[in-house]
Amino acid sequence: MDKIIIEARINELASKDDNSNVPLVPEEIIADSVACYNEGASVLHYHGRNSDGTPNNSPEIYKEVNSGIRNVCPILLHPSLGYIANDASAEERFFAIEEMMKKPGTAPDFAPMDVGSVNVDWWDPKSNRYTTTDLIYKNSTETLMYFADRINHYGLKQYLVTWNVSFTRQLEAFMKMGIVPEPAYICICLTDGICLSGHPGTPEGLSAQIQFMPKNRDIIWTVVNYKGNLFKLTEMIINAGGHVSIGLGDYHFKEYGILSNAEIVAMVVKQARDLGREPATVEETCEILGIEPTGNGSKQN
Ligand code: ZN
Repeated sequence: MDKIIIEARINELASKDDNSNVPLVPEEIIADSVACYNEGASVLHYHGRNSDGTPNNSPEIYKEVNSGIRNVCPILLHPSLGYIANDASAEERFFAIEEMMKKPGTAPDFAPMDVGSVNVDWWDPKSNRYTTTDLIYKNSTETLMYFADRINHYGLKQYLVTWNVSFTRQLEAFMKMGIVPEPAYICICLTDGICLSGHPGTPEGLSAQIQFMPKNRDIIWTVVNYKGNLFKLTEMIINAGGHVSIGLGDYHFKEYGILSNAEIVAMVVKQARDLGREPATVEETCEILGIEPTGNGSKQN
């Protein structure tokens, strides 16, 4: 079977209170990227954060982190656009990527497109109440078409996120329109615990998404379980030919102790090898995803 692409999702909005190994500031993110790469991750997803844990989506942070990683490690870079704060125009939301693209040394390899809109309020399963009631992750069709155009303009790889089957249907429509090039890299974002916005992180939730993946198209899919334990599904994913996107950003993994992101990557690698799949190197990941070595910084070290 194909090699497996392992993406380390190292911080999202996770707190050091849950696990002090969550990297926040650039030095911590850069060190963690090397540690995850050394264990077998070929893609890194991170969010800009301040030392107090608050989000920092300024282009300067992303440029500092990207160039810092480029100097020490060839891992492919998938920075966030800070999407939840999205009452901004498409141009404003994409501004950080435009800034990163000004120099090859600060360019990412992927830019994300979450192909739809959804309520993202936090649910408290203990009290059966929402703790927020007005958070909408809004991605209009017009905004998404703008993102697709700019990502294609720069020769970056679209990181296509689907939270439910309606997102997948819009994604397929974009493929028919010719604005999502193939091979398409699709992230199935399952959600659990305090987030009810995606399919549940269960075999049923995942297989519903797999069943609706665009047919007769060149697609590669990976799976996230935001706020849930993805290890409950990794055997199914590995055996089905999917890829794994995992880390402390999504879930604390306290069932296994106080882990680091690199230890989580190592657990995936071990399970994948036991099931007959080797982790894809950065070069192999580029080959699988059809990423051009030019136009991004990954081959410029
Ligand atoms: Zn993220």
